[in-house]
Amino acid sequence: MSRANPKTVQALLKAHRIGIKKKYGQNFLIDDNILTKIVDAAALEASDVVVEIGPGLGGLTEHLIKRSSRVIAYEIDKHLIPTLEQHFAGPTFHLIHDDVLKRDIDEDIKQYAGDANDVIVVANLPYYITTPILMRCLESSKRIKRMVVMMQHEVARRITAMPDTKDYNALSIAVQYRAKATYRFKVPKSVFLPAPNVDSAVVRLDFHDKTQLPEDEETFFFAFVRAAFKQRRKTLLNNLTEFLSHEKAEIADMLDTLGIDGSRRAETLSIEDFIRLAAHFKSA
Ligand code: SAM
Repeated sequence: MSRANPKTVQALLKAHRIGIKKKYGQNFLIDDNILTKIVDAAALEASDVVVEIGPGLGGLTEHLIKRSSRVIAYEIDKHLIPTLEQHFAGPTFHLIHDDVLKRDIDEDIKQYAGDANDVIVVANLPYYITTPILMRCLESSKRIKRMVVMMQHEVARRITAMPDTKDYNALSIAVQYRAKATYRFKVPKSVFLPAPNVDSAVVRLDFHDKTQLPEDEETFFFAFVRAAFKQRRKTLLNNLTEFLSHEKAEIADMLDTLGIDGSRRAETLSIEDFIRLAAHFKSA
């Protein structure tokens, strides 16, 4: 029987005396149809190397091992390690008992999968650290090419949001600057044990081959974007005046020269607009 079967999940918890830990965001998937949909969204090929974050009891892991050449998994909870090791022991499964946020993922890939550099992350994420995990993979890995991840529905809406929508914010830009973000499907609370308080959704991120700015300009770009969105109801001009060291009138003139009306709100600007503005104001 599958490790995502509700009875198996209960039996595993009991047999290994595992208490479900809220502090680690533990909501185990108990529906094989959803697991199949997640793995399908990842479009895995038999030769692919997969990184899983938070295998839990191994419900998703089981599907990933069948559909790839190798799975490298990070699990923080020591109580889950024995059952994962017993069940999945073999040359194509590598379990790292650690906090994923403390790891150099590319180094781990190198150790367990040599020079693989088109790695796919598939995970039902621990929701309390969704954004740090996403940003870590997006910003510091050169080997990951795609992620298919489950997260809170609300966060999924934000990271896939387009300009001029209420969900579009600095996080949408931080993610979409580095990857094409696609909302795949919503997941009901009923397919988890225990059921979480919020709805979930699966998102696919296809990493861009190249980013548009040189690395040394990115820090300013992201600070600029955060400042532009700082107070959502304020105009771009007012938010930027608090952030930049120029006079308000000067900023208004510069925006004008760039063809952007300072009375607009940040959410009406595309990533390309932000790149153009940040490049200009950085050197102004
Ligand atoms: N993949 C399993 C499933 O779908 O049933 C479990 C998903 S559960 C939402 C999140 C998993 O991430 C848990 O197993 C939890 O212990 C693990 N986890 C939480 N924080 C972690 C961290 N910082 N590093 C690695 N794993 C973590």
